[in-house]
Amino acid sequence: MIKKKAAFIYSADLEEYQYPADHPFNTHRAKRLRGALHSMGMLAGPNSIEAPPVVAEREVLEKFHSHHYLNALQTATAGHWDVEALGMGIGTSDCPVFEGLYEYSSLAAGATMVGVDLLLSGKADIAFNPSGGQHHAGPEKASGFCYINDVALACTVLAERGKRVLYLDVDVHHGDGVAYGFYDRPDVITISMHQDPRTLFPGTGFEDEIGEGAGKGYCVNIPVPVGTYDRAYMKAFEAVVLPLAGAFNPDIIVFELGTDALAGDPLANLRLTNNVYAAIINHLLKFDKPILATGGGGYNIENTVRAWALAWSVFCGEDQAHDAIHALGGVMLGSMEWLGGLRDREIAVTDFQQSLIMPALDLTIDKIKKRVFSIHGLC
Ligand SMILES: [Zn+2]
Repeated sequence: MIKKKAAFIYSADLEEYQYPADHPFNTHRAKRLRGALHSMGMLAGPNSIEAPPVVAEREVLEKFHSHHYLNALQTATAGHWDVEALGMGIGTSDCPVFEGLYEYSSLAAGATMVGVDLLLSGKADIAFNPSGGQHHAGPEKASGFCYINDVALACTVLAERGKRVLYLDVDVHHGDGVAYGFYDRPDVITISMHQDPRTLFPGTGFEDEIGEGAGKGYCVNIPVPVGTYDRAYMKAFEAVVLPLAGAFNPDIIVFELGTDALAGDPLANLRLTNNVYAAIINHLLKFDKPILATGGGGYNIENTVRAWALAWSVFCGEDQAHDAIHALGGVMLGSMEWLGGLRDREIAVTDFQQSLIMPALDLTIDKIKKRVFSIHGLC
């Protein structure tokens, strides 16, 4: 296998900023990840590079966000917050104003845009910005811990360059900001796998939200039941995402890798292990197209760091544990030690749990196929 050139986008400057102490979003996850990768020698390989972010220019931010909204965000950061800003979601308990908010958001978004540049210039085949993935932000709305929607910006810029973009979002929450940002466009297909919106923020992302106009069929939502486990999740991925991605035949993939679907996440209720992310990335790599990956949610910090480290190892073709695990007959190590240590142990699933989840999931898969597949020439 020819190894891909992978770029890790990070700067210690990102550590300067923090959400309020009682807020679940922890900007230090990226720092912890960088430290783990560095200690395992996973940033020093011949095919891996580190790239620092550059603050996103205002004109780039305005490709998705309104002038009015960005002004409000900037003004609020400077200490002049008002009711109009609150109306745009700025200063809520989910999206508080904190010191350096505008600068942090612009830098985190700039990191994703550096990834776009590296892929477009051919300097990297894969770029990973763990500080990105603010998928809930709307053109004029801060929402769900997100202020500047870097992934929507990336899709916008890539589409401007004539690329057919597959946006895949495996964060446990619906990727609403991106889905609705491209709702009427056929050049960016957005696919979001998330926990049943009846049970989780933002309460959108049902099977019948499929895009409109020229974009009908190019917005795909895969809501999965509470308690969904690895095998069920992968069944939906293989039944829906793989055929659609193949039919769409993207030039480039934007992958929002929020890890809050992992078992034990304090904000959600799925039961995945990080083996799912490794499996999905292995599928994505087979398309042999550039991949821009970002972070996202993930509120169990240890699990998030391990999952992203595992993802990076798969991107770099260094996931030796994959073979080792099979050689050991499914025995996995439970520490951070290299060779197998990044992978989670399997979680046992009872017949009863299967009987609750599989029929609901099969129904969802059927609904999506009926609504969307024929638009893409699939049956
Ligand atoms: Zn999330």
